[in-house]
Amino acid sequence: MPPFNMQPLKNPMPTQDANVRKGNFDEVALGYTAEQAISEAKRCIRCKHRPCVAGCPVNVKIPEFIGKIAEGDFEGAYQIIAEDSSLPAVCGRVCPQEKQCERVCTRGIKAGCESVGIGRLERFAADWHMAHEKALNAVTPPTNGHKVAVIGSGPAGLTCAGDLARKGYDVTVFEALHVAGGVLVYGIPEFRLPKAIVEREIDQLCALGVKIETNMVIGRVLTIEELKTEYGFAAVFIGSGAGLPKFMNIPGENLKGVYSANEFLTRSNLMKAYEEDSHTPIQRGKRVAVVGGGNVAMDAARTARRLGAEVHIIYRRGEEELPARQEEIEHAKEEGIIFDLLTNPVRILATETTDPRDPSFGWVQAIECVRMELGEADESGRRSPKAVAGSEFTLPVDCVIMSLGTSPNPLLKATTAGLNTLRRGEIEVDAVGKTSLEGVYCGGDAATGAATVIKAMGAGKIAARAIDEYIQSKEK
Ligand SMILES: Cc1cc2nc3c(=O)[nH]c(=O)nc-3n(C[C@H](O)[C@H](O)[C@H](O)COP(=O)(O)OP(=O)(O)OC[C@H]3O[C@@H](n4cnc5c(N)ncnc54)[C@H](O)[C@@H]3O)c2cc1C
Repeated sequence: MPPFNMQPLKNPMPTQDANVRKGNFDEVALGYTAEQAISEAKRCIRCKHRPCVAGCPVNVKIPEFIGKIAEGDFEGAYQIIAEDSSLPAVCGRVCPQEKQCERVCTRGIKAGCESVGIGRLERFAADWHMAHEKALNAVTPPTNGHKVAVIGSGPAGLTCAGDLARKGYDVTVFEALHVAGGVLVYGIPEFRLPKAIVEREIDQLCALGVKIETNMVIGRVLTIEELKTEYGFAAVFIGSGAGLPKFMNIPGENLKGVYSANEFLTRSNLMKAYEEDSHTPIQRGKRVAVVGGGNVAMDAARTARRLGAEVHIIYRRGEEELPARQEEIEHAKEEGIIFDLLTNPVRILATETTDPRDPSFGWVQAIECVRMELGEADESGRRSPKAVAGSEFTLPVDCVIMSLGTSPNPLLKATTAGLNTLRRGEIEVDAVGKTSLEGVYCGGDAATGAATVIKAMGAGKIAARAIDEYIQSKEK
């Protein structure tokens, strides 16, 4: 075993300079070199309890893969990760490791010490594999004669599809958009997750025999019932995500120049609206207000910044309460995003012209806000914000992006008799993802509401096992 590296802090992640990257869409984090990866891997002390494995929603064998990196066996490391995760290059980049595997890492317990950079090492192993693999090497398993339909090609659907294909199922993924990948392609920006990486991971699944049908809105083109009765799918997995944006319902939200974060990001990420010759327009605001403080708000703000705007994040609580990942907040600040904290919008104001022929008619001109203060903590322990009387002020802006969370789209519920949902539209499931309908399973954001990539993958995995058991039990 190589000697341990007892350096207290993680090897820093090389990144593009903030002044350069705020003007381009290239990836911000550049990844470890082999030397940096080996040095970081040697910080893992291979503790007996292995809390990191339980901290990972798909239980990647973390100490084992890190051990391989420490020995310089990078392909061996990748193969260990691939046993449990079908999207390692994605997870290494976007998983909130600080709340999962790295939160419980033994190296991070002592004051002044940081946990092992598990996410950075996962990314390194996955990137090394992609760079050195000559051709997609998946072997299509022999078919078992059963067809399974997967609705949605986000991390939940792709994971479920991959696991079932490996067991010999004939899997078809039906995707509403024209490109597969879910939020990985339409939501998370190129500068955090290059789309070529997502494509590569999807190609890997297709090489296993998974078929992907795009431009297929289930509930419109075909119903779940039709998939089962007319097209012979023995089971259906719903991984349709939570793409329905929430709004504040304040005056002016329907003005031109007001977007939901999902729409703004979809135009930029999926339709490449930031390219000069793109057919999809996007508002290149001079001054943009992004309302909200989560990861999606940071993505929208950093995208608007790259489109040339001065960007303000408007958030009703304080810095400590910002729900976004610390790393995203730091990157946003480095890129010059202005944080207007303890601030809440009251209304959005239009330009003054009343002439509909004037091109500026109906466009955003400013956002009126009120200052907030934090009151007593509520039952959840969060201090609730209260408006400070008489503190209203106006911020001139020409674009507003609402990033207040999302919920599952009601289309499948509306078109599928007997499919039970919960209060906020989440599809009701049991512990293995079974819905109220026989042979219909669900997982990811469609069942939990907006969550994380790795949780969606975990749910896809559990449901794939349950679908296999369901179909095999019917055989007997
Ligand atoms: C901008 C943004 C940034 C994020 N950043 C992070 C991050 O850094 N780290 C992290 O862990 N998580 C992040 N998340 C959350 C994470 O991406 C989601 O939790 C995850 O993608 C959920 O996966 P899913 O498979 O359930 O759904 P999705 O990824 O939403 O995929 C659902 C797919 O189903 C399709 N679909 C919907 N309805 C139908 C239908 N009727 N018929 C056919 N197809 C349909 C949709 O078009 C979509 O492609 C982010 C989310 C957003 C929006």
